[in-house]
Amino acid sequence: MIFQNTSQFADLLDEQDPLKNFRSKFLVPQHKGKDTLYFCGNSLGLQPVTAQHNINGILQTWQNLAIEGFFAGEDPWLGYHKKLTHTLSSIVGAKSEEVTIMNSLTVNLHLLMVSFYKPTGKRYKIIMEGSAFPSDQYALASQVKFHGYDPKDSIIEIFPRDGEFTLRTEDILEVIDQHASDLALVLFGGINYYTGQCFDMLSITAAAHKAGAYAGFDLAHAAGNVVLKLHDWDVDFACWCAYKYMNSGPGGISGIFVNEKHFANPYLSRFEGWWGFKQDERFLMPHDFKPEVGAAGWQLSTSPVVLLALHKAALDIFEEAGGIEPLRIKSELLTAYLEFLINDINTNNNDELFRIITPKNKVERGCQLSLVCKKNARQTFNFLMENGVMGDWREPNVIRLSPVPLYNSFMQVFELGQILAAAVV
Ligand SMILES: *Cc1c(COP(=O)(O)O)cnc(C)c1O
Repeated sequence: MIFQNTSQFADLLDEQDPLKNFRSKFLVPQHKGKDTLYFCGNSLGLQPVTAQHNINGILQTWQNLAIEGFFAGEDPWLGYHKKLTHTLSSIVGAKSEEVTIMNSLTVNLHLLMVSFYKPTGKRYKIIMEGSAFPSDQYALASQVKFHGYDPKDSIIEIFPRDGEFTLRTEDILEVIDQHASDLALVLFGGINYYTGQCFDMLSITAAAHKAGAYAGFDLAHAAGNVVLKLHDWDVDFACWCAYKYMNSGPGGISGIFVNEKHFANPYLSRFEGWWGFKQDERFLMPHDFKPEVGAAGWQLSTSPVVLLALHKAALDIFEEAGGIEPLRIKSELLTAYLEFLINDINTNNNDELFRIITPKNKVERGCQLSLVCKKNARQTFNFLMENGVMGDWREPNVIRLSPVPLYNSFMQVFELGQILAAAVV
């Protein structure tokens, strides 16, 4: 599509957008009596209008039925999470039994590593992306130390080549290949939080398997953002948080994927708790653990139903939108429009004032664009905030902007472009 830097053109794109009414399903922070231009869905998605209603429903059931709320009422709390796994599994490209909803992201990363990181004398190394999100770095280093190994020797981080910002798939695959004799696990992000680069999960998984290792992904920035095919890609395990692109509330509940081929894998061990016990026999409370089939067997504790109610409010909107595919079609266009407007600013200034470090190729990115500001980076970001833009700042000079197809319009992207242009005059 040939884009134009005019409000009429943005208007036209909005008119043609089949998802344009979904904006009204979210609550937007106000700035000087107007909706902010919210481009921070990569950090915290907006609140669904129905969130309060859903929480009130839980409070009401608690009030009216108390303990009986687990078994009675419209949506009994026992098994409430199962109502969500259908929508969620389609978002991540999994079978229903391969997905369960529990805990938060870093906790789940640890629990999955208990199962999938089993270092032995020779095979103990982990390959990960360099400069991964800090929590992942801490989690992996502590797992390695827990098993008595030294992170310096055991964790191999892959960094971009000199002068480049993102990783080349060929380099990732080569490092995996080089470690075929000592590799236990490849653990990558689906999308890097800083650059917005989406990794080739299919190739990385295949290379890991060829090297005799497991492949797992942290999908914090990928779930609800890009189309995922975890089952078809033969990924071993994955986890994510639901408060970024899945709009399920700050610190909201997370989810995990375990490939069905591992359901009966005797090599895997896991930490167990009563919520992972077969649901229909759980309350007989027998001595020995009998797991629920599938990913649900990884659950430990009573589900936090209030958080599930928030998650449901958000996932219902995905369901109504027809799942991730139609959202992704809009998302590609929306992000391409922002990219066009930013490049237009550079052209008009005869200078690369904003260098987009996110890959140009749409299969290598989600909705986020990360800009390195050549001049007055912090002032530029402040100017955005003063003008009602909520974006996201990363030291020393990077602004991350994420147009989200569920609640951002082409007109908002156009207005963002105008404010960015005004920031650098
Ligand atoms: C957001 C994010 C986290 C945050 O983890 P929590 O346990 O939810 O606080 C972890 N890893 C990555 C890659 C993230 O993007």
